[in-house]
Amino acid sequence: VGVFFRPVEKINSVIETYPKGIAGFRRFTELVDTEPDIADTPDAIDVDHLKGEIVYDSVSFGYSEARPVLQNVSLTIRAGETIAFVGPSGAGKTTICSLLPRFYEINEGAIRIDGIDIRHLKRVSLRQQIGIVQQDVFLFGGTIRDNISYGRLGASEADIVEAARRARLEDMLAGLPDGLDTMIGERGVKLSGGQKQRVAIARMFLKNPPILILDEATSALDTETERAIQRSLAELAQGRTTLIIAHRLATIQGADRIVVIDANGIAEQGTHQDLVARAGAYNKLHSAQLGTA
Ligand code: ATP
Repeated sequence: VGVFFRPVEKINSVIETYPKGIAGFRRFTELVDTEPDIADTPDAIDVDHLKGEIVYDSVSFGYSEARPVLQNVSLTIRAGETIAFVGPSGAGKTTICSLLPRFYEINEGAIRIDGIDIRHLKRVSLRQQIGIVQQDVFLFGGTIRDNISYGRLGASEADIVEAARRARLEDMLAGLPDGLDTMIGERGVKLSGGQKQRVAIARMFLKNPPILILDEATSALDTETERAIQRSLAELAQGRTTLIIAHRLATIQGADRIVVIDANGIAEQGTHQDLVARAGAYNKLHSAQLGTA
């Protein structure tokens, strides 16, 4: 056990709860490598069991001073709500979500979770409240069990098995010689894209954060796998505040709210039905995607 867990703990302590790949929404990868280690303020607090109400209060942000990406964005997300960000490439969907775990510092305004400015939270504590599931799943060389238990080091066997079940990994595990103890990665079994995603989902069930950020796949896996994964993700989102960076409109029609982002910020928001009826930006995107489907 010691041999397997030592390296995992090491990764964990070096970069808080986010190893490179997990931190990465695509572009986050570079970030974790280069990010200066911003110390917590002396009075930063630990939090546990947040409800997950999120408020963006007149937030402005740009990666450089010359080019603001978000200007004066205000948005309140209820605890437990599933909200999907859509809009043209480069509009700022990923950026909005990346500000929440404080991968970047905002220039103006405030972001609050349950009324607490996120700058007043210890970063480790903040990031423990947020789970990220992205398309390019980060798995490290080790057993499937190691990779799942990374979500919560020290989790019990029963909790790991339950997380695997909820991520619908059972059939795959039954087909592997050593089940959860099967080695994956360079020296082990090579998993398919869909299988890797399920391991990442199992990890998130184990982590059990009140807030979830889903970076939706840009292209569909084969449809049956895709549907199964969508079902697991929907189950994972249950009872959590979920922010989806949406690339394909088909998968987010059931979201509690869809927020359309364009170069000027939030263009419109509402349910799928509201927005289709409004014949605005969303309707245009929707028609365009239907046309090319
Ligand atoms: P996509 O649908 O293509 O993922 P998006 O809506 O998520 O796009 P963002 O990734 O948030 O858009 O990008 C918003 C703007 O910020 C773009 O102009 C992009 O080029 C820029 N940008 C994003 N990440 C960085 C970064 N790490 N450094 C500098 N500029 C960035």
